[in-house]
Amino acid sequence: MDSAPPTALLGYGREIFQYHHEAYRTTTRRFFQSEVEPNIKQWQKDGFFPAELFKKAGQAGLLCAGIPEEYGGGGGDFLHHAIFYEEHGYSLAGAALEGGLCTDTTSYVMMLGGNEAQRREWLPQFASGDVIAEVGVTEGHSGSDVRSLRTTAKRDGGDYVLNGSKMWMTNGPIITMLVVAARTEPDAHNKGGICMFIVPIKGTKGVTVSKPIELMMKSAGGVSEVFFEDVRIPAANLLGGDEGRGMAAALGTITTSRLATGARMMAACDLAFKITVDFVRERKAFGQAVIDFQNTQFKLAQMKTEIAVGRAFLDRLLLRNAGGKCDPVESAMAKLWISELEGRVMDECVQLHGGAGFSDEYPISKMYAFARVHRIYLGTSEIQRLTIARSI
Ligand SMILES: Cc1cc2nc3c(=O)[nH]c(=O)nc-3n(C[C@H](O)[C@H](O)[C@H](O)COP(=O)(O)OP(=O)(O)OC[C@H]3O[C@@H](n4cnc5c(N)ncnc54)[C@H](O)[C@@H]3O)c2cc1C
Repeated sequence: MDSAPPTALLGYGREIFQYHHEAYRTTTRRFFQSEVEPNIKQWQKDGFFPAELFKKAGQAGLLCAGIPEEYGGGGGDFLHHAIFYEEHGYSLAGAALEGGLCTDTTSYVMMLGGNEAQRREWLPQFASGDVIAEVGVTEGHSGSDVRSLRTTAKRDGGDYVLNGSKMWMTNGPIITMLVVAARTEPDAHNKGGICMFIVPIKGTKGVTVSKPIELMMKSAGGVSEVFFEDVRIPAANLLGGDEGRGMAAALGTITTSRLATGARMMAACDLAFKITVDFVRERKAFGQAVIDFQNTQFKLAQMKTEIAVGRAFLDRLLLRNAGGKCDPVESAMAKLWISELEGRVMDECVQLHGGAGFSDEYPISKMYAFARVHRIYLGTSEIQRLTIARSI
């Protein structure tokens, strides 16, 4: 009998990776297997995974692997960043971790949008796991329509004073820093005037974080709403140092975030397929293994083909992005297609599990629920279609 863990070979041996990428994958996978999977059920009961997990990941050299060493990162490239996201998807506990160890996203916003002093101050703290950061753009009334956001940042001497709120902040209960989008020109509705501000959460007067919002799935991660009431931050916390710069960088990095999340989604498809094949081999009905029904074989054949197509497209874009050739339209196409593929794969895999697929005892049920959000965040499927349509 095969005693190897179910994720043993997944993700290895693809043509876009080199030896040092595979070595990073091995370390990351071991981390998930030893530090996350044994604890995930307890963290689900506790309601959240501990902030300490970021520090452990930092000590293991996993965070900010794609950021240059001079800023405390691993000195790797975008493929390391993608592998980090993939390993969330390849972990049996990855879906229950929800947003996961996501500071890497903010690290790219800081790298592209921050000035030299900001990079030197914050990136090493992201890489060590001492700071848990997220990007705060969405508000209760404005998600897809980013430019209608209402949070304001008013200049007052050497400070900015922030008022407003942010909705759906990933890892809200444990974040220690937000890069917040706010309007510096309150009258410029829908006409720019939006900047990004570095806002330490803990210890900053006027910042309140809500309890985790109850989500569709009971996970060990989650989101919060964050409120700002006369929050005073130094002008030096304006991302990039001048009012025209930070927002463009934040919107620019969404392109790479869509690819990294695409990597996580493709990995989740691979894992769902693998554990479903294992399940239907074991499960018997009408005196035979479920895999022996032609219906099962056709469904698996269809999934295997669609996963291979998604993988080919994504790997091409990951490689191009690592080479500095990121195309926002292709990134939107990947986000759209892979998130919809993931939805189909998870649905078929739950079906092939029968009742077991609806039980929390089997990882597929969490994977199914978690997959649903991928058609919503980082731009809904409709917003991806808008981006693609504009290019035609
Ligand atoms: C679990 C989770 C984590 C999140 N984490 C973060 C985070 O860390 N930081 C952050 O800033 N945000 C975060 N978000 C917010 C997420 O990015 C938004 O939910 C998303 O962009 C959609 O915005 P909305 O919820 O306001 O929906 P809306 O924009 O109100 O959309 C409602 C519906 O209208 C459709 N729609 C809107 N505009 C158009 C249009 N022009 N044409 C056609 N259809 C349209 C949408 O596609 C959708 O179907 C998170 C969300 C979730 C659920």
